[in-house]
Amino acid sequence: MSIKRTLHKTKVHSLRNIADGVFIISFLRNFKFNAGQVVAIDLVPDGQPRLYSIASGENEKYVDILFDEKPDGNLTPFLSKLNSGATIYVSEPFGTFTSAGGKAFWIASGTGVAPFVSMARSGLAVDKTLVHGGRLDENFYFSDVLTDLMTDGYVRCCSQQQDTQNYKGRLTAWLVDNQNLPTNCQYYLCGSPEMVVQVRDILIEKGILFHNIVSETYF
Ligand SMILES: Cc1cc2nc3c(=O)[nH]c(=O)nc-3n(C[C@H](O)[C@H](O)[C@H](O)COP(=O)(O)OP(=O)(O)OC[C@H]3O[C@@H](n4cnc5c(N)ncnc54)[C@H](O)[C@@H]3O)c2cc1C
Repeated sequence: MSIKRTLHKTKVHSLRNIADGVFIISFLRNFKFNAGQVVAIDLVPDGQPRLYSIASGENEKYVDILFDEKPDGNLTPFLSKLNSGATIYVSEPFGTFTSAGGKAFWIASGTGVAPFVSMARSGLAVDKTLVHGGRLDENFYFSDVLTDLMTDGYVRCCSQQQDTQNYKGRLTAWLVDNQNLPTNCQYYLCGSPEMVVQVRDILIEKGILFHNIVSETYF
């Protein structure tokens, strides 16, 4: 998705390859934001930036962006090859996909876990259950941080690794199998359009009201 925003010249602090085709790019934080918000990023000041959720905490020194490389994409194959000190262009943070206090489910596929990592790192994990879907165990990004912070529930649903130590199956299967999903709390969904639509249908089927389902779709 491309969107016109003023972009500010920003120096890359670090780029880490954390799984096959998946990276964390970090830069010094020079803005305030609410956990769950996004920034627009590009390699030029006036191109067609892409949107990325912030994955770091609201008070941390560096902004972390978790992204997967789309081999034929216009931005990510170049973003993934930057070195420390390289220049990128970044917008002010924006967006309304933010989580209040109180009981809630956070449901993510792939890099869609990023806003929930930010929320957890910003002190919002209390009373939250995170359900994360990934193909392989290496796709549970930030699992070390999340294991510490998600004290009320952290479910990893691994769809393609036979010897996984986690729930074996898609997160949609975990939701269908779960007979105890509360109907009196909010459900936050983030990830691919397919996942968001499927999960929304499952939740509604289980009696969760439409207005208690909030989603952020990566496209
Ligand atoms: C609110 C929001 C938050 C997001 N947050 C994240 C995040 O935290 N992490 C993350 O990884 N992603 C996130 N995304 C997705 C991200 O913005 C980019 O879409 C993604 O990184 C792909 O960028 P790209 O420029 O490399 O690929 P693109 O150039 O957008 O291409 C993506 C795919 O589409 C194909 N394609 C491109 N053009 C065409 C065409 N004309 N016809 C057919 N196929 C085409 C390409 O081959 C490629 O496979 C978010 C999206 C939104 C809307």
